[in-house]
Amino acid sequence: MSDIERHPKTIELPPTITVRELANSIQSSPIEVIKSLMSNGVMANINQQIDFDTAAIIAAEMGYEATLETLEDEEEERGEIPLWRRMIAGEDQAALTQRPPVVTILGHVDHGKTTLLDAIRHTDVAAGEAGGITQHIGAYQVEFNGRTITFLDTPGHSAFTAMRARGAQGADIVILVVAADDGVMPQTREAIAHAKAARVPIIVALNKTDRPNADQERVKQQLAENGLVPDDWDGDTIVVPISAKKQQGIEDLLEAILLVAENMDIQANPKGKVIGTVIEAELDKSKGVLASLLVQNGTLKVGDEVVAGIAFGRLRAMFDHYGRKISKAGPSTPVSVMGLSEVPPAGELFYVVDSEREARDIVNERHQAMDKASASPKSAVTLEQLFDRFQAGEVRELRMIIKADVQGSLEPIVSSLNDLSSGDININILHAETGNITESDVMLAAASKAVVIGFNVSADAAARRLAEAEGISIRNYEIIYRLTEDVEKALKGMLPPEEKENTLGHAEVRAVFRISKLGNIAGCKVVDGEIRRNARIRVFRQGKVIHEGPISSLKHLQEDVREVRTGFECGIGIKNFDGIEVGDKLECYTIEKAAVEESVF
Ligand code: GDP
Repeated sequence: MSDIERHPKTIELPPTITVRELANSIQSSPIEVIKSLMSNGVMANINQQIDFDTAAIIAAEMGYEATLETLEDEEEERGEIPLWRRMIAGEDQAALTQRPPVVTILGHVDHGKTTLLDAIRHTDVAAGEAGGITQHIGAYQVEFNGRTITFLDTPGHSAFTAMRARGAQGADIVILVVAADDGVMPQTREAIAHAKAARVPIIVALNKTDRPNADQERVKQQLAENGLVPDDWDGDTIVVPISAKKQQGIEDLLEAILLVAENMDIQANPKGKVIGTVIEAELDKSKGVLASLLVQNGTLKVGDEVVAGIAFGRLRAMFDHYGRKISKAGPSTPVSVMGLSEVPPAGELFYVVDSEREARDIVNERHQAMDKASASPKSAVTLEQLFDRFQAGEVRELRMIIKADVQGSLEPIVSSLNDLSSGDININILHAETGNITESDVMLAAASKAVVIGFNVSADAAARRLAEAEGISIRNYEIIYRLTEDVEKALKGMLPPEEKENTLGHAEVRAVFRISKLGNIAGCKVVDGEIRRNARIRVFRQGKVIHEGPISSLKHLQEDVREVRTGFECGIGIKNFDGIEVGDKLECYTIEKAAVEESVF
């Protein structure tokens, strides 16, 4: 194995990079990079953009281990980094400008998400001017106080979860709708877990305040219990009382969004690389593939050659959310486009390439990669796999979703698991609740790269199917300590291997010889096991350890030997220790890296 293979240099690369930039980053020539791309079946010129996956393969061939570019902020390094942050990391920082915040609305069923989306849409004065009826393209924009806000309007988790599952976070801010007459419900908690795992700030819209049985204080109490302490309780979660049905409080909510957005410094480079996320897509009988795209950086134009997963094509036409034909769209703009070769999945990343040929090459390569991947078993989110990713520096926490039969068992499980967190590896319990394991638990696990742990509960059929399809590990336990024990074992695997001592044998010092070059040598008899030259010696005198250190020489009958067994005599030199005496007892041992435990999950 060459040195390079043994110790790859690590390098951070952006989501897309030109051949020239890649060559510079890995201290290679563009020609070498192009050759290497060719040998991987990709024809590319020097100014061509290649995606991270391709760049990582080329980098690996040049002895670099590539990771997706991250920010310096340590907090963010530990979690998911919003896609747009990663995208603008490689941009000319002077060219960055503010862009509209992208907002998604989550919450429990029937708490008023759809009604709120309609109410917000009605505040849009531009709609009248445009003369357009808003078209459903999965997202819309409204103007408020001279600023624009983009809303993803597929209520519920689906769009958001799909984006998260593909590592492409679309939303900058989550609006959590909670009905004031119903309070925090299971899907509310799930939404909180999603937003927290994605590190997207939450604004609570306390809805249905017009209802006579609305109890705002009770809901605030529940929110606080779920980690969202309202601002009027000295917390940092903005809670805006509204009535979506009566259109009350909507402006306060929009103001709150702008306030949060301002503090987040949401930026993009309109002139930079064009990249974004597929919101949704469908096949229209007459128009072909219609895809709703959210532009996140750069400016998308009609005529651009776009790649999204294995879909590609030249954009024939582009429409805004009023259904008006447009020719270009800047950051945070949702658009509906025609021209892709097939329906890309929601959440897929898209970007613009230079030519159709480049698009074809990338897609061909992805097809090949998919063929290869389908030949091998679906990668699973198991503790073992998380360990691998941890070692690769991708994850620094073990994420879990815990379901238990009763509250009385949930609490001790959560607290004992939290106790297992160590400085280096965190246990992050995304969601802990009583009840059976459901499809949405698995969905949260898939999007968050977490494992699902059940305690005295079962997983329903839909959950099991999804878990199998997504390769999510579900473990069931009936005894708490077995659960914590397994997690602890897994965590040990995740930690750098501990050093473990291995005792080889013992010897007694019967004589001491002075050898001018070597110093004092202990003339010994091996009483059990063996003494090995590459090992270490611990010297006991009257039961106390007086020295520990490596062996410097080992002889049997004047001969240098590698080992001496029980019953034989030998001369042992101990490095940096001259004070050996007759009667000392020696223990010979080695220090080994403790073997990583077998995967328990
Ligand atoms: P979703 O499932 O979260 O999208 O909830 P919907 O928007 O479909 O709302 C569920 C029900 O609650 C509908 O009958 C709405 O009319 C009603 N609703 C929504 N918002 C309000 C509100 O502010 N006040 C009252 N009284 N009813 C509301």
